[in-house]
Amino acid sequence: MVSVAHTPYPTSLTPSSAKKELTIQSLQNDLEIADACGSVGVVVHFGSDVSGNDPLESYQLMIEMLNTVLLEWEGECKILLENLASKQGSIGTTLEELVQIRNLSDQSEKIGFCLDTCHAFASGLWTGGNWRDLLANGTSLGYFQEVKAIHLNNSKYPSGEGKDRHANIFKAGYIKEAQIEELVSTPILMDIPFILETPSDKGVSHGEEIGMLYEKWGR
Ligand SMILES: [Zn+2]
Repeated sequence: MVSVAHTPYPTSLTPSSAKKELTIQSLQNDLEIADACGSVGVVVHFGSDVSGNDPLESYQLMIEMLNTVLLEWEGECKILLENLASKQGSIGTTLEELVQIRNLSDQSEKIGFCLDTCHAFASGLWTGGNWRDLLANGTSLGYFQEVKAIHLNNSKYPSGEGKDRHANIFKAGYIKEAQIEELVSTPILMDIPFILETPSDKGVSHGEEIGMLYEKWGR
């Protein structure tokens, strides 16, 4: 049994100065709760572009936040940075950014990644047809070695549209079954927990969907 936690939805790694202190405390509290539950990590979304014209400002704020949150953290549970669904050109969509933020943080060993497949598809990072290249690039960057969880979702919209709308895995989205199979059967991801964030009100329950995944690919 594996457990992976998630911060509350409003948590941002690029908070306003008024919310900074509260966000730091909230993240530290998330880590403590998740660690007590034996979770491998707490997933938090990549920050947003706070300046509008200088992405470096947002990256610096994220690094400062991570440094503060993790300074005295000694638990096993990691912060897991999740890639965003935004359109290309906005921040948090490339593996380079995720890896750089981790590398530039003082406690990089306490930071891992969560790959959301819908977000990767929506942002255009994963087009459905470029998994091999993405895997090669991500491995040479050191990204895939630090992936601790996968959010396995299909996408309601085509790749590159920047729309964060999750769809059920089978017969419901723009990511084809063969493309999901390619990802699910990637050796470096074999022992990584896959978590569904798919709709459960579209005629298929999570239990049924998990059953279908196990039947197809043994996961
Ligand atoms: Zn997700």
